[in-house]
Amino acid sequence: MMDIIDFHTHDLEASRALISVDPQQFDPQPGKWYSVGYHPWQDVASLTDDDFDLLGDCARHAQVLAIGETGMDALRGCGLDIQAQVMERHLRLAADLNKPAIIHCVRTAQNILAVRRKAGLTAVPMVIHGFRGNEHVAQTLLKAGCYLSYGPRFNPAALQATPTHRLLIESDDSSTPISEVASLVADVLGISPQEVESIAADNASTLLQH
Ligand SMILES: [Zn+2]
Repeated sequence: MMDIIDFHTHDLEASRALISVDPQQFDPQPGKWYSVGYHPWQDVASLTDDDFDLLGDCARHAQVLAIGETGMDALRGCGLDIQAQVMERHLRLAADLNKPAIIHCVRTAQNILAVRRKAGLTAVPMVIHGFRGNEHVAQTLLKAGCYLSYGPRFNPAALQATPTHRLLIESDDSSTPISEVASLVADVLGISPQEVESIAADNASTLLQH
């Protein structure tokens, strides 16, 4: 049974984790769980229909539990119009397969919610990964039904404003072990790291069960 604490990592060796990979590097290993997507930092403008077919094939694999990471970054990558189109294709796939989407969101919270709304995909569960925004941005995303996933660096007021049933933790591309992330989060919430891990595992299992 899946027992995922680390909701988003790029470490291919990680255990109890959702390992985020590009479809080109998807090579599922026994006992591991994955999400697949085209990262918004790459040249998403050059993605072809074949690339999206490959994404769709990988996304259907039994060890792939989520779509992403996808999303929008105002400071890096292609123009936001192209990033929005590519994210929308990921969201449609997530809707078709009934899997949540893992979203990279840098200064684009309103854009991301607008893309989802205009595409009629508000039912797709979205996890905003590596959330570092302030409390106000957190509230906007939470009101829209998003989950917030916290890594080693975050805004403590935003974390405190996040209800525990919408809380996830992750290591992403950092070298910080997930147990250390759990401790950092626990300090702010005034609970034990074990409680944080169990909250994160429960939420991951709720989100990822089909
Ligand atoms: Zn990432």
